[in-house]
Amino acid sequence: QCAAVCPTGAIVVKKDTDSVWDALSDPDTKVVVQIAPAVRVGIGGKMGQKAGEDLMGKIVAALKRMGADEVFDTATGADLTVMEEANELLERLEKGGKLPLFTSCCPAWIQYAEKKHPELLPNISSCRSPMEMFGAVLKEEYRHSSRRVVNVAVMPCTAKKFEAAREEFKKDGVPYVDYVITTQELIQMIKESGIYFSELESEAIDMPFSNRSGAGVIFGVTGGVTEAVIRRLAENKSTTQLRAIAFNGVRGMEGTKETVVPYGDRELKIAMVSGLKNAENLIQRIQSGEASYDFVEVMACPGGCVCGAGQPITDLQGKKKRSSGLYAADKMCSIKRSEENPVVMSLYSDLLKGKVHELLHVEYEERKR
Ligand code: SF4
Repeated sequence: QCAAVCPTGAIVVKKDTDSVWDALSDPDTKVVVQIAPAVRVGIGGKMGQKAGEDLMGKIVAALKRMGADEVFDTATGADLTVMEEANELLERLEKGGKLPLFTSCCPAWIQYAEKKHPELLPNISSCRSPMEMFGAVLKEEYRHSSRRVVNVAVMPCTAKKFEAAREEFKKDGVPYVDYVITTQELIQMIKESGIYFSELESEAIDMPFSNRSGAGVIFGVTGGVTEAVIRRLAENKSTTQLRAIAFNGVRGMEGTKETVVPYGDRELKIAMVSGLKNAENLIQRIQSGEASYDFVEVMACPGGCVCGAGQPITDLQGKKKRSSGLYAADKMCSIKRSEENPVVMSLYSDLLKGKVHELLHVEYEERKR
């Protein structure tokens, strides 16, 4: 069963729904919401819908009725993460940088590394998480708004509240992501609003960030980040190759997975772990010399974000339904690879010009507490 506690066991869970209601009801505030991949498949069982069903369209419709001005998909931010993380891996491979490169999108893993393994910080990707990349992009996009802009992130995760409050993710003391609400808090807010969720007609994500790739959507399940990065790195962009990547050991709910993928004239050795105990075991094996990898994906929650502490509690079957729901959502995306997302391309040629480091990257330091 998923535990409804933070995976690090050390994060005080702050409730943000009152502040979000205040922002939604204030005509002088523009409320911009982003929704993480795992949320759309985590809400169904509690809202009279099928467990694991992709309910993104209904969530967008509900948020619009509650007063949100713009609603976007964190998968668009994940597409940026794929681009930056793949670049970073290639740079380290080519220039002989620190390997393995550990992923950085899970804040509970980051906090664990800061406290327990500061020696690994140089190995951790400098990429911000998809939520923080997208939060920074959205604040930049609406910086000239005549209204106060409040960024709200709906996340499967309690650790994301801590991440949003970190000093690294503030500009002039103001967070890029103002409030994080969990899937459970969103369910509570929809119920409080009196909306009949099952009767809502699905609505599309808003422009100008309405595109996201399937690679960004599968971030919500263990192995998803890896699969997305391999799609980016693969020279062969055929559908057959996409299938080959999916069946090469990246999918499945096992706590530790490995795969090897050819890259140029060498092979990339990759590990994927979910659950901090599995992460610790893998770190021990790497540090003792028993194992070696080029890339390591770490998710603190067993199974990945689909089973985050902010999601409704479910059993193994429920977890599997959620991950199947995300793979089905990937199938429905006409864009499969992050580099093919036109939003990503236009961001690089416009809003992110000269600001990639400032808005998409971060440096973590050792933490005593
Ligand atoms: Fe949050 Fe996902 Fe990490 Fe769990 S695995 S702590 S849900 S980011």
